[in-house]
Amino acid sequence: MAASTGLPVFAVAAQPSTAAARKSTRIRFGDDAALSACWRGYCCEVRDSAIGSALEEAVGDVVLAWQDGVPIWTQRRVVGVNVMMAALPLPLFTERDFIHDYLWPSELLHLLPLLQFLRNLTRAEDWQSPPTPACLVVDDPNLHLRTYGYLDFQRLADDAWAQNFFVSIAMVPLDSWWIGREVREIFRQNAPRISILLHGNNHTYEELACPASEAEILSLLSEALRRMERLENEAGMEVCRVMECPHCAIAEDRLEPMAKLGYEAALASTAYFLKFNPDVRFRSELGAEPTLLTEKAVPILPRIQVYADWETDVRLAAFLRQPMFLATHHWDFAHGSHVVQDFAEIVNSLPDVCWASPKGAARACYQFRQVGDVLHIKLGSRLVDVAVGRGMRKVVVHRPWLHGKDESELMVLRGESKELFRAVSSAAVIGPISLDESTVLELSSSLLDKVDSNSVSAPPRRYWPLVRRFMAEVRDRSLLGVYLRGQVDESNGRRARSCETGDALPRE
Ligand SMILES: [Zn+2]
Repeated sequence: MAASTGLPVFAVAAQPSTAAARKSTRIRFGDDAALSACWRGYCCEVRDSAIGSALEEAVGDVVLAWQDGVPIWTQRRVVGVNVMMAALPLPLFTERDFIHDYLWPSELLHLLPLLQFLRNLTRAEDWQSPPTPACLVVDDPNLHLRTYGYLDFQRLADDAWAQNFFVSIAMVPLDSWWIGREVREIFRQNAPRISILLHGNNHTYEELACPASEAEILSLLSEALRRMERLENEAGMEVCRVMECPHCAIAEDRLEPMAKLGYEAALASTAYFLKFNPDVRFRSELGAEPTLLTEKAVPILPRIQVYADWETDVRLAAFLRQPMFLATHHWDFAHGSHVVQDFAEIVNSLPDVCWASPKGAARACYQFRQVGDVLHIKLGSRLVDVAVGRGMRKVVVHRPWLHGKDESELMVLRGESKELFRAVSSAAVIGPISLDESTVLELSSSLLDKVDSNSVSAPPRRYWPLVRRFMAEVRDRSLLGVYLRGQVDESNGRRARSCETGDALPRE
């Protein structure tokens, strides 16, 4: 009856199933164009999932997903309009809930059908995105020798070319005092396919989440930058100004000092970001947007951990147009582990994605819309590089984290040969700004109270971080490496311990 209005319809089964959640169910997606390409033909095991009532299947219906062989998501044409039907009930949000709470594999089919319906409905009007960036990240290795645990940097670079992926080493700045000559050459010759980003400063327990004063935070983050700048100057290697948080722990009060110091982004999984910031109020859209960017902060780019359901998380990130960072460790490169190859194959099979370094990924976090000869750009990061389509004469910049009455920021727009615009403004929308013949624009919106890392005093000298790093290196290069290999082999290479749970060193 609703279809008689001539409008597309989304319907949910009136009687939810009373069957108890099963320990494991098998979800199979159809291959119809009504589904985003990242889901078409995908099959996965989902743990602890609710059971949907079987939907009635009429002639001409398209099944978009089955649960244990039973149709639970369908679409049919009724009097010329699409009627999408879902078996699992929609989640009931409270004011303390986030969309992220329903983007876990076990909850996904409660919300995904509605998100897909809305995506299909608004496709022509919605903001468009550049290709979604992807990058493999390896936490913890230092670059003293050609190998680190199961990692061989030359082989990693060769595999990155052969299997077509980008990889970035999350290196602890404390380890930057020496870079092996052979390793320098490997990174220089294969950049940006293989790159470096920051991993804390000393990698002590939750060093970016423990209580600290603003001066202490600035001091630690500045030292991390100075250590990496010295590496760049002495070894001739570029370091992405992107922070991979040790133990996935970052407190919200670190984001403003990072923005002041010129960090471009931080990587953190949404669940851990919520866990370490229980008293901070976030918008309910948390987890559904490409990045999390708030006032006076660096953007947080979602990071995916290697655990049993990581492949579903990667596809979900592609669906949400979020950068796809898969965080691994050296044991994910052990013989018998398929994580790296599987990730490369998945990303390479998806349309509208591209490999990028963390720097390239952070600078691809924007959305755009063309209206006549005006290019509208919505920033998802404070510094982006935008490819300009033919015929664009003007640009309008959208900074959704500003509301016109907040503190001002410095907006700068550069073409390939000259600066096109510079202004201090608190406006959420700036423009139109006339363009020249540039095919690539650099847009930056930076805080006015920037801090030079070289002007900040160093933290007090401590010996514990050095001892801890030495113990970690011994663990990774020798005896405990054998133990960790056992963990990988036992789980057929599909699961791995992570930095969050696998750090067996004393906390301090
Ligand atoms: Zn780590």
